[in-house]
Amino acid sequence: ASGKGTQCRMIVEKYGLVHISTGDLLRAEVSSGTDIGKKAKEYMDNGMLVPDQVVTDMVVSRLSQPDVRERGWLLDGYPRSYAQAQSLESMKIRPDIFILLEVPDDNLIDRCVGRRLDPVTGKIYHVKNFPPENEEISARLTTRSDDTFEKVKSRLETYKQNSEAVIPTYSDLLNQIDGNRPVEVIFHEIESMLQKICTNASEKKLAKANGKPPDTTASKKEWRGIPTRLNNIPHSREIRKYFYDDVIQATKRAIEDKKTRLQIDINIPELNPEMDVYRIGTLMELVRDLSLTFADDGKRVKG
Ligand code: AMP
Repeated sequence: ASGKGTQCRMIVEKYGLVHISTGDLLRAEVSSGTDIGKKAKEYMDNGMLVPDQVVTDMVVSRLSQPDVRERGWLLDGYPRSYAQAQSLESMKIRPDIFILLEVPDDNLIDRCVGRRLDPVTGKIYHVKNFPPENEEISARLTTRSDDTFEKVKSRLETYKQNSEAVIPTYSDLLNQIDGNRPVEVIFHEIESMLQKICTNASEKKLAKANGKPPDTTASKKEWRGIPTRLNNIPHSREIRKYFYDDVIQATKRAIEDKKTRLQIDINIPELNPEMDVYRIGTLMELVRDLSLTFADDGKRVKG
């Protein structure tokens, strides 16, 4: 109830990571009546943590799927205990950043007790702060079984004990954020943290590809990133056009600026011909569009 679900959705939308929420995975197991669900239900209903091994097996199996390997991951609600953090460490699974959203206890209790879920759309409401749009939705809203006052108190206690156990493992990656502010303000702060990580990673990658040591002044002067409104390769047909336009316009600006050498790197870490068909299509069309645009300008295109 700190707002992590909302922030995760926004991060995933912008950066294309795969969102892995153990709470959501466990709720799905419970409602499908699987063995994991049967084991987890009692703990969840009582606001207690599900045994480490059950959750860790579930997370590790999700982390090994092709979409996660290709797009990267965002873990939400995991690790929640020292043992879970150590399991990831022992498998050399480390995040680039660890975000801690801080919200005062009273606000958290109020957010949970008033929280309602629309089972049809999956949308989350709050009886006071964000009521449903009409009577029809209002009538079908449900309450999570662990969102009662007593259970929230117990979850808070468990959270405090467990976060204290987890934080030391990630103290070098830890970023505390005041979660008691508007959603957009929080997201803006998270974005600037993630942007730094992306910039560092692409500088390192480029330096490696060019056989240059990372972060030299020379490479910083010569290379410039192309700012586009969309940082990920869009899947959806509707927004692909903006993606092409953005890249083409930015490429034109870079060519007109004589000081800039232009190199377009397109990296797809792992191709899965079945799952990545739209992504591959988008990139092929982009390369074609770029080539045609600059061929029309009489500029040479080396492909
Ligand atoms: P959440 O939706 O993240 O608040 O999780 C709801 C419930 O699922 C928790 O109260 C726990 O019972 C269980 N759960 C979620 N993540 C974990 C985890 N990493 N370890 C153990 N139990 C978890």
